Amino acid sequence: MRHNFGIGTFGIGTFGIGTFGIGTFGLDMRCVICKQAEVEPGTATVTLERGGMTLVVKHGLARVCPNCGEEYIDEEAAAQVMETAEQAFRSGVQVDVRDYAFTA
Ligand SMILES: [Zn+2]
Repeated sequence: MRHNFGIGTFGIGTFGIGTFGIGTFGLDMRCVICKQAEVEPGTATVTLERGGMTLVVKHGLARVCPNCGEEYIDEEAAAQVMETAEQAFRSGVQVDVRDYAFTA
């Protein structure tokens, strides 16, 4: 599933708009999109764009709905994604993939 957070700015505010859920939650959280299932641990794939840069961050501290596939990341994971995105942007990369799936 591809998530597009808009072109132009990174930030938790922009990040939170759309189909990605960010917040503090437990494993018993019901999916807010389909309301049919409880989310399970999984890996979220976040795609961020700014200017000409496209950055894909995979984060293992995520929750995924087994019914509809909606992905959720918590605030700590979101902060890591943002930090990674800022570093990548400053270093001038055009396209990159960062993977937190096995280090988080
Ligand atoms: Zn769902």
